[in-house]
Amino acid sequence: MARLVVVSNRVGVPEKGARAGGLEVSIRPALKQRGGIWFGWNGKFSEGDPPPAETVERENVSYVTVGLRQDDYEEFYNGFANRVLWPILHYRLDLAEFTRRDLGGYFRVNEFFAANLEKFLRPDDVVWVHDYHLIPLAKALRERGHKNKIGFFIHIPFPPPEIVTALPNHERLMPALGHYDLVGFQTEVDATNFSRYLANECNLRRIDGDSFEFDGRAVKVGVFPVGVETDAFSRLARRAIESPFVRDVLGSLSGRAMIIGVDRLDYSKGLPERMDAFERFLTIFPEWHDNVTYLQITPFSRSAIPEYADLGRAVGEAVGRINGNFGEASWTPLRYINKAHSRTALAGLYRAARVGLVTPLRDGMNLVAKEFIAAQDADDPGVLVLSRFAGAARECAAALLVNPYDHEGVALAINRALSMPLEERRQRHAVNYKALLHNDLGDWAERFLGALERPPVRTSAPPPMRIAGGR
Ligand code: UDP
Repeated sequence: MARLVVVSNRVGVPEKGARAGGLEVSIRPALKQRGGIWFGWNGKFSEGDPPPAETVERENVSYVTVGLRQDDYEEFYNGFANRVLWPILHYRLDLAEFTRRDLGGYFRVNEFFAANLEKFLRPDDVVWVHDYHLIPLAKALRERGHKNKIGFFIHIPFPPPEIVTALPNHERLMPALGHYDLVGFQTEVDATNFSRYLANECNLRRIDGDSFEFDGRAVKVGVFPVGVETDAFSRLARRAIESPFVRDVLGSLSGRAMIIGVDRLDYSKGLPERMDAFERFLTIFPEWHDNVTYLQITPFSRSAIPEYADLGRAVGEAVGRINGNFGEASWTPLRYINKAHSRTALAGLYRAARVGLVTPLRDGMNLVAKEFIAAQDADDPGVLVLSRFAGAARECAAALLVNPYDHEGVALAINRALSMPLEERRQRHAVNYKALLHNDLGDWAERFLGALERPPVRTSAPPPMRIAGGR
């Protein structure tokens, strides 16, 4: 089995006592089994050129990290990745702030990554690159002569070409994805959007249903929805609901039903819209006053970017308005917490909640939605209210699917979820749980790597090209 080299912007070096994040959980088993390298930024800045890469060995894996110059970080990460690619790939053209300087920084850091990574790369390594920070990395490696199998997985959405082409210089950036052997997406919709981009904007010839010819090679397009460790999360939730922390929270509700939302502070999560929907719910259904508490856990993220600070103020104001208008001395309708919580604490809270409110305006997958389902008691499950614009909506189709722009519709769904008979709750939960088990996180990495390592389709004598988008 070939050695695996994972590349991502941040590297999850295992530390004693630290909890593993999503990417670590999904990738570490494959890395340990195959042996390999995890390469990326170490989170440190330098004034001048960064010192040489540092390596930490843990079990079968070398964690190789490099620092970044402060100005490179500003342009690459805060600039192009998070103020241009993030909004545009989440369909928010209105929030993108493109500058050529930031684009230059983005390419420069990708070159820097390639130059450092190649010092560790062997010819038969399989390379797996993660996410929108590193789109041009395969191109940079190919230009340095590396012929390895290189795969790319994008964790966030990929919008239709009509939106992608509004990105200035998209024709310099997006075709670079053709240098990968496999480009993986969260949903069929994202993959189809990308295929349409390759066919229509890059004039690439389709070799078969999901491969295109690029530079005499084949680039394959695939769908690999990220899952959760369903049964393990379920067990965690069963234990966590008995923890002193969750018992305290439940005690403080005095028997009221709990609605829970858990989202980083990000405009893609639709928080102001959700607050508005909750306000309408309280207006339309006064019978729920004093009978329900909505707990919204929202750790801050990317605070250096002004849009995020503005959003923080807007959500804070909405919370104040709702509690001011509807609250009583003995009842706070909405509890808004900016502290991050452990996975264990969240698992217990999900299980204790009657309703999970997950209403992003656009989300690649949304793991909170899947965790909420995994955490429920199958005999008496809570109900998930889920945006149809989250990738998770494909698999969690038995949730109450809503349009987050329709605030009144979300308000009605909250009421329906709170009032849903036990039998319907059980049926919906069973269908969703089965879908999660079917696509468990446990074999996600191997499915991607299996597709990456399968021999490419031959590029000679192709069948006639199909209509763009018709995968
Ligand atoms: N999460 C956490 N603590 C918090 C808030 C969130 O551990 O206080 C976790 C959450 O359980 C989930 C992840 O962070 O696993 C968020 O993933 P998701 O796909 O929902 O959203 P993202 O933040 O990646 O856009």
